[in-house]
Amino acid sequence: MDEFALIRHYFRGLTPVREDVALGIGDDCALLCPPPGEELAVTTDTLVAGRHFPEQATGYDIGWKALAVNLSDLAAMGATPRWFQLALTLPQADEGWLAAFAQGLGDLARLYGVGLTGGDTTRGPLSVTLTAMGSVPAAAALRRSGAQEGDLVCVTGTLGDAALALHTLQAGEQVDEALLARLHRPQPRVAAGIALRRLAHAAIDLSDGLAGDLLHILEASGVGADVSVDALPASPAVAARQEGRLSLQLAGGDDYELCVCLPPQNLAEARRKLDLPLTPVGRITARPRLRYVDAGGRELLLNFAAYRHFG
Ligand SMILES: [Mg+2]
Repeated sequence: MDEFALIRHYFRGLTPVREDVALGIGDDCALLCPPPGEELAVTTDTLVAGRHFPEQATGYDIGWKALAVNLSDLAAMGATPRWFQLALTLPQADEGWLAAFAQGLGDLARLYGVGLTGGDTTRGPLSVTLTAMGSVPAAAALRRSGAQEGDLVCVTGTLGDAALALHTLQAGEQVDEALLARLHRPQPRVAAGIALRRLAHAAIDLSDGLAGDLLHILEASGVGADVSVDALPASPAVAARQEGRLSLQLAGGDDYELCVCLPPQNLAEARRKLDLPLTPVGRITARPRLRYVDAGGRELLLNFAAYRHFG
């Protein structure tokens, strides 16, 4: 099969008929129709072999994760996912891999009702670039810049699971299935992001680890935060780690949970609306500094650098 036949064959199932697609794959551009009164939310992420996923990741895992990390960015803005574009670079047209990749991508796409509206395929070292698009009512998007003194810093789900799975894989040890799924098949917190639109002042998704990602909110908002390390929500597997727990939870990365800043009086309603745990882990302060404290309020001197590609 030539390149075009391959794309048609494996990605055909990813282009459902949608009312908000005036013209899909097959022309020079797609024509998309965001709902009137809503803003278009657009994000792009690239996954490169050897850097963003371990050798053991299957085509299915890579397809799933490529879309999941993009939907996570939409979730962090409170946007409703609608469409995505895919640029795929492959060393060779391996049909088995391509079928698995399309399956992983398709399973997550169907879960969130997003449609593939175009893309490109080229030959080269394995790399997946995905652009996801969604919409959010005008002025309702959750930005990084809205955190205010006194807000609670809260996170969804648990932190450190994906990092523990990766750490265990790299040590050549057996990894529990549920933990491995946290690494390879993150669940974007789309419903949580939408539910928090009118309750939170600021949000970000946790891709590099709370230590680094929270800093983005603090810098954009011109505030600081006290984070209570004993409050960080952990799964039993991560909680069992005496050593290295904080490093996994603060700087491990790949959590794809949401970190939101909200006024304390909104916490109860936010928890009612979410179908996953929302845990306060700190508080926004006026002084622009990120401090870590223990349960007794004593400051801990930790220095966790987030994962950086160039640095
Ligand atoms: Mg993000």
